[in-house]
Amino acid sequence: MRLILLGPPGAGKGTQAKILVEAYGIPQLSTGDILRAAIAAKTPLGVEAKAIVDRGDLVSDAIVNGIVSERLDAEDCKPGFILDGFPRTIAQAEALDGMLKDKGVSLDAVIEIKADADILVQRVINRAKESGGARADDNEEVLRKRLGVYADQTAPLVSYYSDKGLLCPVDGMAPVNEVTTAIKAAITK
Ligand code: AMP
Repeated sequence: MRLILLGPPGAGKGTQAKILVEAYGIPQLSTGDILRAAIAAKTPLGVEAKAIVDRGDLVSDAIVNGIVSERLDAEDCKPGFILDGFPRTIAQAEALDGMLKDKGVSLDAVIEIKADADILVQRVINRAKESGGARADDNEEVLRKRLGVYADQTAPLVSYYSDKGLLCPVDGMAPVNEVTTAIKAAITK
């Protein structure tokens, strides 16, 4: 099973990916997780990516395409994978098409987790207040930036995959277990 989870930041892609990993026994491939690990380890990639990730912009297509291409070659991706946070631009989607073509495999579905931007911002503000952690306005500012980047650069993927007959939209505002049920139903359709 080869899946893409598409949706704005905070919609629950990571949460659903982890549930699907358990259900289907295939790995989650999160470019965000890989970048955060590189930043924490201060590798050359991490040092290059840190400022970009911190301000909510996208890392270059060349960097993330390289990360994904290398990761897809690993043995554990043979039976399938769940892409979480990649592709985020049309150029990345076209690069992925090329990688999969080279391997002679294809995508099964692109799950679009639909979410309301204003509700996502409110959730982050509430979480910051509850945890008493970082300043809520800092987080809100970066999230709003990321939502803008999503609308500009990633949302065009909805029609890209819809045109290929791969798009399965689900309501990301529903409870977590209901979102999972909707995804599983879409996959087995
Ligand atoms: P995520 O955890 O998927 O929300 O990603 C966190 C951050 O990592 C994003 O805001 C970007 O700065 C960067 N990032 C993750 N995936 C990509 C991607 N496919 N293309 C460009 N930047 C990415």
